[in-house]
Amino acid sequence: MNIHEYQAKALLRSYGAPVSDGRAVMRAEDAKTAAGELDGPLWVVKAQIHAGGRGKGHFKEADAGEKGGVRLTRSVEEAAQEAKKMLGRTLVTNQTGDAGKTVNRIYIEDGAGIETELYLALLVDRQSSRISFVASTEGGMDIEEVAHNTPEKILSFSVDPATGYQPYHGRRIAFSLGLSGNQVKQCVALMGTLYKLFVDKDMEMLEINPLIVTDKGDLKCLDAKMGFDGNAIYRHADIAALRDETEEDPKELAASKFDLNYIALDGEIGCMVNGAGLAMATMDIIKLYGAEPANFLDVGGGATKEKVTEAFKIITSDPNVKGILVNIFGGIMRCDVIAEGVIAAVKEVGLQVPLVVRLEGTNVEKGKEIIRSSGLDVIAADDLKDGAEKIVKAVKG
Ligand code: GDP
Ligand code: MN
Repeated sequence: MNIHEYQAKALLRSYGAPVSDGRAVMRAEDAKTAAGELDGPLWVVKAQIHAGGRGKGHFKEADAGEKGGVRLTRSVEEAAQEAKKMLGRTLVTNQTGDAGKTVNRIYIEDGAGIETELYLALLVDRQSSRISFVASTEGGMDIEEVAHNTPEKILSFSVDPATGYQPYHGRRIAFSLGLSGNQVKQCVALMGTLYKLFVDKDMEMLEINPLIVTDKGDLKCLDAKMGFDGNAIYRHADIAALRDETEEDPKELAASKFDLNYIALDGEIGCMVNGAGLAMATMDIIKLYGAEPANFLDVGGGATKEKVTEAFKIITSDPNVKGILVNIFGGIMRCDVIAEGVIAAVKEVGLQVPLVVRLEGTNVEKGKEIIRSSGLDVIAADDLKDGAEKIVKAVKG
């Protein structure tokens, strides 16, 4: 789960990390009051969306020469004006895709004077199963580009969980970033704070880009992106409360309400499968036969007919879906429950695309009989290979 920059900065502030003062606004009429509460002489007006690259992004239907989603302004009035201009419009960045994202919130921040822009991130490194620091002097820009063109400019190391964060970790980062004097002390403290926050809140990713040295020589977090482990959200009510559902894929949102493991993809074949491993194998074999899966979906072991119905409705609500493959290997899941769920969903929403069903395992005969007697136009498959071949053929001809 991701949160907005202004929420991430509030968390940073509560842990004592250096961030600028700022105000979040949801309505244009509140912008002037919010900006008026900040000191100036520089007000930074920032579109809040769950994507980076806002500064270099552009708005749909932008005026000629109009700036992106991060604007520097010189007065309360100008700040309020820019906030009004951005609210409700669609911001496209290299992380949003062509569709862009609607800006529903604006963050107005006390502008900082910048001496240098640095890069810093913490993330879970799956290879070492540890938390890693990533630091670079090349802040403010695309870190992917830096990693590709000048990998020697990136420092990365992981922290042994047995010892946790140690001051020498912070010094190592400070020296690689070219910091000196009091900045080294600030860096050692800040890295410790970030590490603690990361662990306390079960984060997956924490990115500060840029981390700056201000014109007064101090470190400050100028941007903040945080991602949290969805499987640990249940123990962080404070983080869960920050969820902004308007930022999420509506299909994934619907799936989460029914406790379905669903991830939207951009292919043409909808998949309904039980078991995460089988779901991945199903996606693989669809690709092997020359098509692309429209989603990952594991309906789980103990799914009810209602849950299966909802899953099927979510799949068919995707306009890209040109065919559906139901692939069930019934163990705990019973084939008759799946069959009933599919039929109930089709009765409710209709069936506009070819449907291939492969059932095997517990109550398989009962399941097949339910589908046969339903009169539905279903293509039956004997096994996984047969099912994948049939659905790809039905879709691609
Ligand atoms: P992003 O484009 O989504 O990553 O948004 P950022 O928050 O990183 O802002 C983009 C850029 O705007 C930064 O790299 C800075 O160069 C600039 N910027 C952001 N905040 C300030 C500020 O307080 N003062 C100044 N001078 N520039 C800022
Ligand atoms: Mn940034």
